[in-house]
Order: sequence, then C-alpha cells, then structure tokens
Amino acid sequence: MVINPRSESKELKLYRMLNRRMDLSDEEVQYYWSLEKGFEGEIQFDAWLNDLPGSENWLILNDLLLEYNRTTFQIDSLLLADEILYFFEIKNFEGDFFIDENGRWLTLTKKEIKNPLLQLERSKSLLRQLLQSLGLKVAIKSKIIFINPHFQLYQAPLCQPIIFPTQLKRFSKQLPVKPANRKCRQISEKLLSIHLKESPYKRLPKYTYEQLKKGIICKSCHSRELQYQDYILICKKCSCKEDVRSSIIRSVEEFILLFPERKVTTNAIFEWCEVIKSKKVIRKLLLENYTCIGYGKSSYYVD
Ligand SMILES: [Zn+2]
Repeated sequence: MVINPRSESKELKLYRMLNRRMDLSDEEVQYYWSLEKGFEGEIQFDAWLNDLPGSENWLILNDLLLEYNRTTFQIDSLLLADEILYFFEIKNFEGDFFIDENGRWLTLTKKEIKNPLLQLERSKSLLRQLLQSLGLKVAIKSKIIFINPHFQLYQAPLCQPIIFPTQLKRFSKQLPVKPANRKCRQISEKLLSIHLKESPYKRLPKYTYEQLKKGIICKSCHSRELQYQDYILICKKCSCKEDVRSSIIRSVEEFILLFPERKVTTNAIFEWCEVIKSKKVIRKLLLENYTCIGYGKSSYYVD
C-alpha cells in the first residue's frame, strides 16, 4: 500500500517550466535531464514494486526528506513490513560504467560519478541514528536498485547491496511476506510527520520575470504558438485543443511556482498569459478558482 504517492519534485517542475521559457546553459540542461531521468526511473521502480504479489500488505513511503544532526538526506523509496525497513536508492543510469582500483565509479570516457555505495551507506547510517533517537527499533536493509536494462557495471565487487536489472525478479522473492504490523505503522507515521519540505530554489538557474518568455504553453507539444477562439485555445503546431479555463489555471499555477513573491492579480495574469485578450475572462476565472483578497485595484488572489 502506497502511503504517499510519488510526484515530480518542485525542482523538476520548475526546471521544466524554465526550460520552456528561457535558454538554459549546457550545464543546466544536463542537470535538468538528470532530474527527468531520475524521476522516470523512480516511476518505473514504483510500477514494478506495486505489481508484486503482496505489495498491498506493505507500507511504501516515497521521496522522504529527513534530517538528523543538521544533515538532510533523501530516501527514494522505503518499504515497511514484517518488522523490517527496506530502503531503496533508485538509479536510472544508462550505458557502461566501471569501478577502478581505487573504488571510483567512472563512465567509459573516464568521467567520475558520485559513488552510489557511499551515498547509500551515508543515508543508512543517518536513518539508523534518526530512528534510534526517536526510540524506534527496526532492522534496516538498504539496496541500490539499477532499474535501467541498458546499464552495465564492470568490475563490480561481489556482496554489495546492489540489485541489477536482471536480478530484480530474484530479489523480489526476498521481500517480506508477512504484512506490516502496528510497529511498522508507527514508524511510517513518525517518518511522515518529520518529513521535511524541499527547498527547490537552491540549484535553480537565476531568472527574473522580465527574462522569461510569456504566454500559455501548449499542454501537449509545449509550443507557445496558440490561438484563442471561442473559449478554446488551439495550438498552431500540433492542433491540440484545450479549454481556455484549464489552460489559464495551468498558467496561473506556473506563475505561482515560478514567482512565489509576486501577487496574482488580473493584470499580472493577463500579461503572463499573453494570448488571452480579455481581462474579463481572466478575472472571472480567478474569482471562481481562488480567494480574492482586498478590493478594487489592489485586490489579489490566493490559493
Ligand atoms: Zn501543441
């Protein structure tokens, strides 16, 4: 049973928006794609895990951000059952990698990547200490899951907590059969209650309102070339049609996420959406979907 379903991180959502509205540097694009790829891998893992027999008896927690001793750490996927806590670090690496004689992880072009085993060890140790400090005793098992079938690791040491794509099926047989008990539920509730809110703005490119391209973005091909016709927006590129209400709401949500410090006003959204030529349409929609604060020209909307 999934306790908290996975969704895109705020950071990934923001990168998606920025990628469509400004020119990112090569480094930023690379980082953005690593986020997309990571998320895709996690979704694949979720689908695999939730499809296993008995999965409804487990408690599954996703994307926990925890803190112990002023150090934050993230857990991609955590499974509680039969008084055992499994936690999984999911990697969607693709291509050939190898481990050199010094234990460094490298691509075939000799580019060093962060050693996932060290990451896993660090998170496991922090989690263990955190649970101890909360007075919660449970056996912890941790694994790195390489989910991508096109991943190959050469010179991998034996007896490491690594699961390769070809081993997934065998590994599933080791997962607990007994359902989660009261203690598991207690741990799950506690971890959720101390789960931190992410701060997505740390690694974002710098951007200003003026710098970003305005306009509603097609929900299907992400083009900004839309045409407004009788409460419908038609994409000039892919001919996709969307009701003007849902496309404005989408754009307002984008505006709020990109500019949390800016006030949502009729004029601001009118300027942001660009393609809607009627302020009346925008005001009506904001009134219907958000709470209006204040009167007249100084009024604005909140969620
Ligand atoms: Zn389109």
